[in-house]
Amino acid sequence: MSTFSPFLPNMKPEALTEKLPSDHCLICGAAPAIIGIFTPEDPTAWGAKNGKTRLIRYCLCDKCHGRQETLENVEKIIRAELAGGGVTHAE
Ligand SMILES: [Zn+2]
Repeated sequence: MSTFSPFLPNMKPEALTEKLPSDHCLICGAAPAIIGIFTPEDPTAWGAKNGKTRLIRYCLCDKCHGRQETLENVEKIIRAELAGGGVTHAE
């Protein structure tokens, strides 16, 4: 009866990478081309309880996805949003 899932509770793995109408590029706000899952190396620094994994879903457009600095910017933006408690497009 129990199904192991490394993802968020009550959330099917597919749901994390499914496109949503509200999706937009995390960097520039354009229409998203890809959906990424950010998994911090130290989840407790990102609001997760000890031993739990934190998964943060985000979208990128084609342009930003191809940039070298994007991964770094994604981390900065998500970190800022988590710190400010105003997470709107990263869950
Ligand atoms: Zn973009």
